[in-house]
Order: sequence, then C-alpha cells, then structure tokens
Amino acid sequence: MRVDGSKASAFDEAFDYVIVGSGAAGATAARVLADTGRSVAVLEEGPAVDPKEFSTEVFPSFQRMFRGQGGQVARGRAFIPVVQGRCLGGSTVINSAIVWRLPDDVWEPWKTEYGLGDALPLSELHKHWDLIEKELSIAETPPQVWGEFNRLMDVAKTNLRVSAAPIRRNVRDCRASARCLTGCPTSAKQSMLVTYLPYAEKKGAALLTCAKAEEIRWDGDRATAVSGTFEAPGRPRFTARARKAVLVAASAIQTPGLLARSGVDSPHLGEHFQAHPGCALMGIFPNKVGMWRGATQGYDADHHRRLGRFKIETIALPPEIVFARLPGAGKRWMRAMLETPYAAIWAVQMRAWAQGSVRERFFGTDIKFDLTPRDLVQMRRGLRFTAELFFAAGAKEVWPGIHGLPERIKPGEEWLLETAPADSRAYSMILSHLFGTARMSVRAADGVVGTDFAVHATRNLFVVDSSLFPTNTSVNPQHTIMGVAMHAANRISEAKL
Ligand SMILES: Cc1cc2nc3c(=O)[nH]c(=O)nc-3n(C[C@H](O)[C@H](O)[C@H](O)COP(=O)(O)OP(=O)(O)OC[C@H]3O[C@@H](n4cnc5c(N)ncnc54)[C@H](O)[C@@H]3O)c2cc1C
Ligand code: SF4
Repeated sequence: MRVDGSKASAFDEAFDYVIVGSGAAGATAARVLADTGRSVAVLEEGPAVDPKEFSTEVFPSFQRMFRGQGGQVARGRAFIPVVQGRCLGGSTVINSAIVWRLPDDVWEPWKTEYGLGDALPLSELHKHWDLIEKELSIAETPPQVWGEFNRLMDVAKTNLRVSAAPIRRNVRDCRASARCLTGCPTSAKQSMLVTYLPYAEKKGAALLTCAKAEEIRWDGDRATAVSGTFEAPGRPRFTARARKAVLVAASAIQTPGLLARSGVDSPHLGEHFQAHPGCALMGIFPNKVGMWRGATQGYDADHHRRLGRFKIETIALPPEIVFARLPGAGKRWMRAMLETPYAAIWAVQMRAWAQGSVRERFFGTDIKFDLTPRDLVQMRRGLRFTAELFFAAGAKEVWPGIHGLPERIKPGEEWLLETAPADSRAYSMILSHLFGTARMSVRAADGVVGTDFAVHATRNLFVVDSSLFPTNTSVNPQHTIMGVAMHAANRISEAKL
C-alpha cells in the first residue's frame, strides 16, 4: 500500500511495526520485518520520485530529493555542507553505491572499549552482508565501466605500488553514466527505492511518503504511535499506531531530533556526532579524461585507511558543481573551464577524530562540527597523497582549490599541500557519512540506546540507524548500516513485545 502524503487527507491506522525513515537502515528493517508476516508501515518525510523523473540537472534534483535542497550545513569555524537524501529510499537514491564491510580494526574497539561485542557480533554482521551482497548484486566495478578517471587511479596504483582497487558497488548493469548523485536513470543502482522497499511493499508493507514524523506517543514506557503531518495542503495529520514497536531510522541527523521531541532525555542525545569529512582535488592530464563517462565512484585507495585515517576515492561530480569550484575568475576561470575535459577529481575521505553535536532549535536542526588540529594534519597528508597519486598517474597539474595555496601545482610540488592553512575555512569540504548521535551503550549513563537496540528505559522504542554507532567507520557506511539494521530487525522480530 502507498499513501502519497502530498495528496492525502487525515490518516489513522494500526500496524505491528512502525518504521521512521526509508533509507539504508529503515528499508532494510522493513525488508526483514515484512518477511515475518506482521504488518509494517514505513514513514518517509520526502517524496517518492520515479527514476524516470530523475533530472540530469543538479539544482532540480537538490530541490526534490535532498534535505534542505542541498543547503544543510554544519557550523563551526567553517560552514560544512551536510549532504543527505530526503526522498523514498533516503540517501541510497543519491549515493555512489560504494560498498565496504566494516573493517575488523574498527569493530575491535566497539567490542573491547564499548562492550558491544555481543550486541553487534561481527560474525552475524558478516552473514547479513553475505545476504545483502547477493540481493543487491554487489560486485567489483568492472573495467568496461571504469571510464578514464577511474582507470587513471589504477595506473597510479601500479606506478606507486600502493593499496588501491576497483570499488565494490551495489549496481546491476551499470551504464557508466556518472550520474549517481542525481539518481540512477536506469535503476542500475540498487538503491532502497528499487530493491528493499518494493520487496517490503509486495509483502504488504505500507509506504507513507511526504509524511514527516513529528512525535512518538507513549503509554508509560511503551511507544504506542507515531504522529506527524502530511505535506498536502492544510497539513493533514497522520497517526501510525504501533502494536509491537516503533523503529527509528531517520539518520544520525534527524533521529536525535525526533527522540528529543518525543521526550527522550539523555545527556548523550545529539552528542558524539562523528563524520568522515571529504575534500577533493582536481588533476589535469595531458590527454582527455572525460569526467562524465564512467562509474561515478569506481576506484579507491585504502593505503592509509588504518593508520593515516584517510581513503582516496575517484569521483565524477556533475558539471554545475565542477564549474562552481574552478579556480580564478574572468579569463582565468574561462581557461580553467576549457581544461575540464582533461580533469579528474579524486577526494580524501577522512575518519575525523572530531565530535560535534546535533540539536533541534527554533530555526531547525543545529549541527555543530569542528575539525580538530589533529584532523587538519591528517587531511593535509591525505591531500598530499592524493596529489602524489595524480602525478603518478601522469597528471601535469593539480588544482588544490584551497585558500592560501597556488591555484595550480606541478609535479614535485606535492609537499605544498602539507603547508595548507591549519584552518578549516581554507578548504571546501562536505559531510555525508554521519554517526553517533544516539549511541549504543551497556549502561544507561553512557549512551541513549541499550544493547537490545531499545532506547534506555523504554520497552519498545528502537533505534536502528548509524546514530547508534559508537564511532565512525573509516569506510563508506551504507553496508555497515544495512548489516546492523538487519541484525537489529531480526532481534526485534524475535523479542516478546
Ligand atoms: C551524496 C552521497 C553519497 C554517498 N555515497 C555513499 C556510498 O557510495 N557508499 C556508502 O556506503 N555511503 C554513501 N553515502 C552515505 C550513505 O548513503 C548513508 O550513510 C546512508 O544512506 C544512511 O542511512 P540512513 O538510513 O541512516 O539514512 P538515510 O539513507 O539518509 O535515510 C533517512 C531517511 O529518513 C527520512 N527522515 C528523516 N527524518 C524523518 C522524519 N521525521 N519523518 C519521516 N522521515 C524522516 C529522510 O528523509 C531520509 O529519507 C553517501 C551519502 C550521500 C549523501
Ligand atoms: S554510474 Fe550511472 S548507470 Fe551506473 S549506477 Fe551510477 S547513475 Fe547508474
């Protein structure tokens, strides 16, 4: 059943499970719970967008499918965009389909320092990842769809002898259109919109779109319903009553706000916000690269992932975004624009030490995040390594796009990147991997969610997204989020509620 909240009138129905959010976590939970034969409702604030309607243009896509039309930011010393999907399927619709299992070295402290080894057992997660990988056709990006900007990282890998490889992605018959950010026009990307949500719907789940969950209702320590408003004129109210449980999967940015609005009170709620800041460089090659032909993100270098805390990824950004980032103005900008056919973009994805916060304020969601001095050192090392990779692949110039550095640097000048300012305002960064704002803990005093995924001191209000992660993951998080949500949903389905 579908309820389009942009046209709906008031709604009040009961389900066994009510899930808030339809992204990686919510859709995976729906896929598991729909299989139990019990009734499931998924509430999604954004619209259902048919892949046939995906636009090649960035700004209409931002308007329709991105939170805050792509304008959400974290504030600190610098304003850093926080990019998220706001549509049926959540951020999985606009992401690059990169798949990484949680590395053992990241999970180990989850067990030893946080005591979560039994709550999030790695062996179980691996079983879930096996299943997800089968169901979402996850495989290494084949050379036929690399395109030149991915192939060049393969050249760098060979020449520098570093650890790098084609990325594993959840795609089927990728056509190398380099358009993942604005939604895959051929549904090759196995996002939740075209996989687990239709699966759950076929099994009877109700999908409510343009339906913003505003509050969870209570009877003592028991969550009984989720209420909110549809986007239709007049803002009709909806109530989804929960006979068994409410699962919150609204993302590490929206989950703490919903919990706070619903009366959950913990000093850890909205705290410990962690991320992987991303920062890109452009490499200019002697021959044409053609950035808009190839798998959007098809190759990465994990050489310094563990000790250096950064990974380098290829990325094809849409032309509007590339042009906005070109160096110079006037004639210099025109010259740079004419050189873009020769450009590739590779980005540092850094496992930051920084912890910020996410709070609901009268003006909306207030995200605070500041890189630490240690993070800035690592970021500059990551940028230098990226330049080394570019030059090893044959680039003739690298354009840093960093305030205080030359617009163009030549081979042999990679070291300049380590002299970039120790000030986050000098860099263009984004955050799209988000964690920790309702973290899981053994003791109620140390976190928001217990080892059974229920919010401490509640019986049946569960959190199943990356809000509960005790740390960031050092790798692209969708797969970990899905594995954890699958594990949580299995446990919740077995619990006596
Ligand atoms: C541009 C981009 C590229 C990325 N690339 C990759 C990649 O290649 N690989 C990877 O592993 N990760 C990638 N990520 C990150 C990954 O997509 C996210 O980590 C993951 O989707 C998060 O899952 P989630 O379920 O927590 O949140 P989301 O997938 O963001 O879903 C949350 C959903 O909840 C909805 N929601 C929020 N509040 C409410 C409310 N009150 N009521 C109803 N609904 C609500 C939102 O609208 C949203 O649709 C990328 C992210 C972005 C933005
Ligand atoms: S590169 Fe193009 S065809 Fe391939 S998954 Fe992304 S949007 Fe779809």
